[in-house]
Amino acid sequence: MEKTDIKSLNKTELRQVIEAMGEKKFRADQLYDWMHVKLARSFDEMTNISKAFREQCKETFLYTSLSAVCVQESKLDGTKKYLFALEDGNVVESVLMRYKHGNSVCISSQVGCRMGCRFCASTLDGLTRNLKPSEMLDQIYAISRLIGERISNVVVMGTGEPLDNYENLITFIKLLSDENGLNISQRNITVSTCGIVPNIYRLAEEKLQITLALSLHGATDAKRQELMPIAKAYQISELMEAVDTYFEKTGRRITFEYSLVAGVNDTDEDVMNLTALASGRNCHINLIPVNPIKERDYRQPKQEYVTAFKNKLEKNRINVTIRREMGRDIDGACGQLRKRHLEES
Ligand code: SAH
Repeated sequence: MEKTDIKSLNKTELRQVIEAMGEKKFRADQLYDWMHVKLARSFDEMTNISKAFREQCKETFLYTSLSAVCVQESKLDGTKKYLFALEDGNVVESVLMRYKHGNSVCISSQVGCRMGCRFCASTLDGLTRNLKPSEMLDQIYAISRLIGERISNVVVMGTGEPLDNYENLITFIKLLSDENGLNISQRNITVSTCGIVPNIYRLAEEKLQITLALSLHGATDAKRQELMPIAKAYQISELMEAVDTYFEKTGRRITFEYSLVAGVNDTDEDVMNLTALASGRNCHINLIPVNPIKERDYRQPKQEYVTAFKNKLEKNRINVTIRREMGRDIDGACGQLRKRHLEES
């Protein structure tokens, strides 16, 4: 029988299983604190728990823990990219970005991805498997331990489509923002999706205060379909209804992500169509000059072009920023570190 993944249990569930083992409730609270506050890497670190019970736990539970396979640090801005090995030998990528307002970690939600966005390195080899809630937490816990600092912001923008791993994502967010755990404010958690409409509606009903980022990348169905296969399943009009509902239910402003690709989605017509989508919506546009990957021929528009694109949107009274590119010197786009590792091994 598969062992219970202890770090994916919430406090109530943990108390139930610990009591079923004939232990007192406070043992569960101690375990929870070791896992989610003290960020223990194994039962052996839990020194105020008897050795006998620790041994029993080892037999009963799976205790996930990551090991860093490789760390790259940007000389430009201190951004660090981590390649972590999971229990089964698969690897995932996470990124630490240091800002004045605190440490932000970008995590992966799946091993690989099946969404097939044309410009993205993470999807080239398809989906291997979903990450468990514990494995998403572990990325943050491991980085926090390694740098000996608190993490204040989390973005689910690494490899994988979070809304394609829905239940685990929700469990993860609840554990991450639990006041008895790391207690990261939901307002400091962002989930980025390529736009799986039914799950945006589900998310709107969860009563979470997280930020939803929608990867738009094209302002018409035709343009979007060129870059993102998911756009064939859901039209932009359906997507807009879904994000409007998300805003109505949560009061959280939507972020639209727009990767600028030279000659593909950076024309004046694109400005016009994007303006039409963003006007009258409580939203914010994040422009990301596309990070070229060697498998495809997509290029960034020239810097002046990117700035001009932004200025035109601003003139149309759209809230827009150009995403600061962090760690450009260390294997650029999401998934490239993992991809290179797989190719070399
Ligand atoms: N699957 C989710 C989250 C992962 S990617 C999503 O699609 O939103 C996070 C963001 O980076 C998405 O907006 C994605 O489209 C974008 N992205 C992926 N590869 C990129 C690249 N090479 N250059 C620029 N943006 C990229």
